[in-house]
Amino acid sequence: MALPEKCPLCGTDRRKQNVVTPHVYGDKDHNRAFYHCQECDVRYQYPALSPEEEGRFYAAEFEGFMAGRSGTSGGWQSAENHIRANEATRIRRMQYLTPHIFRGASILEVGCSSGFMLFPLKDSGHECVGIEPSGVFGEHVKKQGIAVYSSIEDLVKNEPARQFDIIQHFFVLEHINALQAFLESQLGLLKAGGKIIMEIPNAADPLYSVYEIPAFERFYWSIAHPWYFSESSLRYLLDRLGQPYEILLDQRYDLSNHIVWARDGKPGGMGRFTAQLGSEIEEIYKNTLIKNRRCDTLIAIITKNGGIKQ
Ligand SMILES: [Zn+2]
Repeated sequence: MALPEKCPLCGTDRRKQNVVTPHVYGDKDHNRAFYHCQECDVRYQYPALSPEEEGRFYAAEFEGFMAGRSGTSGGWQSAENHIRANEATRIRRMQYLTPHIFRGASILEVGCSSGFMLFPLKDSGHECVGIEPSGVFGEHVKKQGIAVYSSIEDLVKNEPARQFDIIQHFFVLEHINALQAFLESQLGLLKAGGKIIMEIPNAADPLYSVYEIPAFERFYWSIAHPWYFSESSLRYLLDRLGQPYEILLDQRYDLSNHIVWARDGKPGGMGRFTAQLGSEIEEIYKNTLIKNRRCDTLIAIITKNGGIKQ
């Protein structure tokens, strides 16, 4: 197996790079692994997917791959099912989005998927635009009257003067190879004072960092992700943008989901025992994980404040 020469995020040499896991979900050739950099704390896949492999993956395989990971409950089979299956997710996200979205705000969502976040925002009078490389969902969102482009470059080519108040993306950053260029291109599309609001997996997911469930290890580290961030590695990345930011923590999956992981070694347990446990227990459980910083989700809010510092 090829070993990384240096950390692809901070450049620290191989003496500070350790294997996290040789199990990369979706790596049919078994020639990849995830590494941890002791210097900046990022976890990264090595060798990375080539641009050709990545292009093929997103053009054709992504929905099928996600359906395999989430089972039928994720609703990846059709856009309508997907919108329905993600209503609880939308409500959870709106709790931290709402304070930043003022009346009539212009909103760009990068990776808008089936449009489940954008449709209600459009109905509330916001100007919405989506970026969606996956053909199936992009077409669906366009048919419902929201402009969708296949990439940020495609948007800039078609609407060169367009600027936004909010750029949002959820579980996108961990799919991007050129992280800094990705975020800087978004800062260029923001009005002064505009915000990038994003959600990513937290490498301190309790199924990994507390319970160390072997089946979860084989599931979590995915070929679709060049990176996994912790709070400190996310700070390392965001400091380089030279813009003010804050990081929030959240826990998406509930105690029922964790019990099913422990019992069956499988995802898909959300809400299964909530009626018996009581929603109060679920709430206390989630809040305790967040308080102890052993939770599954990181949220970053970056404010555009003048020029970009290199
Ligand atoms: Zn590093």
